[in-house]
Amino acid sequence: MTRRESLKVFLAASIWTLLKGRVDAAQSTSMKDIENLQKNWKSLLADGTKLPSPSEPLKLSKEEWRKRLDATQFNVLREEGTEPPGTSPLNNEKRPGIFVCIGCNLALFTSDMKYESGTGWPSFFTTIVGVFGTSTDYKLILPRTEYHCIRCGGHHGHVFDDGPPPTGKRWCNNGVALRFIPRDGGKA
Ligand SMILES: [Zn+2]
Repeated sequence: MTRRESLKVFLAASIWTLLKGRVDAAQSTSMKDIENLQKNWKSLLADGTKLPSPSEPLKLSKEEWRKRLDATQFNVLREEGTEPPGTSPLNNEKRPGIFVCIGCNLALFTSDMKYESGTGWPSFFTTIVGVFGTSTDYKLILPRTEYHCIRCGGHHGHVFDDGPPPTGKRWCNNGVALRFIPRDGGKA
């Protein structure tokens, strides 16, 4: 091999290593990346949007909730109902932005936390920190972890252990319990 040829081989190998490194980096999300998504969630919030804090509870009577929510929203949020799979327009929502509770506007998830689970419900592998409480329900005999908005107590969905790495969680959320606020404006 001439000096020129070996240089070519060396360069090709270096470029390959560089490219491969980038692909590997793009594929492996670490827990540190998840923490950053959680910490920087406001970077996906549309300018000038005012949202409540988890520490300002919203308590309403059943009748007040009935007035504030439509029948489907009331059934999910206040009676732990489940929307039929594949019915939420939010399944296909891919724009950058924030998902808030339809009951009280608390920010729950960002678009960066969403993934396609194939279940027919909007699914997320993590949440904004401190926005949900959980309980165990036995409605389907086997125990499931129910989660609800920490601010208004509204039921949102169930969390399962079959999500993508590194969290391994699937927050399976009823679309009717969420409102999407696109970061760059436009139709919610
Ligand atoms: Zn809420």
